[in-house]
Amino acid sequence: MHTVRDSQMTEQSPLFDTYARAPIAFDHGEGSWLVDTRGERYLDFGGGIAVSALGHAHPHLVETLREQAGKLWHTSNLYQVPGQNKLAKRLVEASFADRVFFTNSGAEAMECAIKTARRYHFANGHPERFRIITFEGAFHGRTLATIAAGGQPKYLEGFGPKVEGFDQVPFDDLDALKAAITDETAAIVIEPVQGEGGIRPVPIRFLRELRALCDEKGLMLVFDEIQSGMGRTGKLFAHEWAGVEPDIMAIAKAIGGGFPMGACLATDEAAKGMVPGVHGTTYGGNPLAMAVGNAVLDVMLEDGFLEAVRDKALRFKQGLASIVDRYPDVLAEIRGEGLMLGLKCVVPNTTLVKELYANHMLTVPAGDNVVRLLPPLTATDEEIAIALERIEKAAENLSGGDRA
Ligand SMILES: *Cc1c(COP(=O)(O)O)cnc(C)c1O
Repeated sequence: MHTVRDSQMTEQSPLFDTYARAPIAFDHGEGSWLVDTRGERYLDFGGGIAVSALGHAHPHLVETLREQAGKLWHTSNLYQVPGQNKLAKRLVEASFADRVFFTNSGAEAMECAIKTARRYHFANGHPERFRIITFEGAFHGRTLATIAAGGQPKYLEGFGPKVEGFDQVPFDDLDALKAAITDETAAIVIEPVQGEGGIRPVPIRFLRELRALCDEKGLMLVFDEIQSGMGRTGKLFAHEWAGVEPDIMAIAKAIGGGFPMGACLATDEAAKGMVPGVHGTTYGGNPLAMAVGNAVLDVMLEDGFLEAVRDKALRFKQGLASIVDRYPDVLAEIRGEGLMLGLKCVVPNTTLVKELYANHMLTVPAGDNVVRLLPPLTATDEEIAIALERIEKAAENLSGGDRA
């Protein structure tokens, strides 16, 4: 649709070749919109992969970071960081957890969750209980342990022996899960809504069965809510829909609204092995991140915020369902919860992502031939209407087999 004018984007780059980047760079953002270096406006319904939950340049976040930047950036965890205590207290009050460890990313939050689960059994005198069960289609990050947890061959290949201690079972298969549990099993790790795997919500019944099974067998139940958490599904955490609480939970992405940060939450009991000296991070929980994390919560915990997300999500989903009905040769299904939605495609998902991009709308592909819609939770009704128009137009253009 348009040509790349910035030659820097096509020249040989000194960067690692690990990303197939779109030939576009953004200069600034305003709420649900991103403006590229040529001044073109894009409706951002990818949110930098579920990160920009309060949109771009949210005034409260910008002001908070500016103020903190003039005061103090970093001290390390050798000293008290008051912002950590404040944010941890608020996360604990709003969740099942009693304890929090702050990280810089989702994968690190998952590493902490895995280490916490293993240390729990070690502290109980069972160091042999270290194995972790995960589910097909899972994504838990790109460190050596989290690619082993995710179990996807395409992420494991060429990186040496897979980290020991991860067993994978089919999604939503209780019998297979039960068969995989041994005397060495420490924990079950699951995303309440699979993100990268294609916006696959775990049935509520299955989450309840997991809780019962973990209680029966003395296993830690670990939720990866890095993508599904922080209001994305219309509850602060997706597992609240099932009324099932984990022992340990990893969060990241939206918690910093675009500032890199993550956290591992746990009950007192689950965190009992995490004693002085056993785990640490230089940057995790630094004052800049804590200021922004607290500012994000200021907005998300306001009365009516999550209710508004649920209302908007309902209207968006209804509009999408009607488009799916009218273009069955392009779209197969709409799935997901709240503003964590997936369009299961009939055409290749990347074809739809490109068509939407041509219509100046950003989305994210996922597994299972799904296009993810992860708009800012602050998106207005008008922006959702624009999104529906653009998706409809894209579906129309791709319908009838008149395009390659
Ligand atoms: C993004 C994501 C991760 C990894 O987070 P990073 O910040 O990229 O390390 C882990 N689990 C889930 C469910 C995610 O969506």
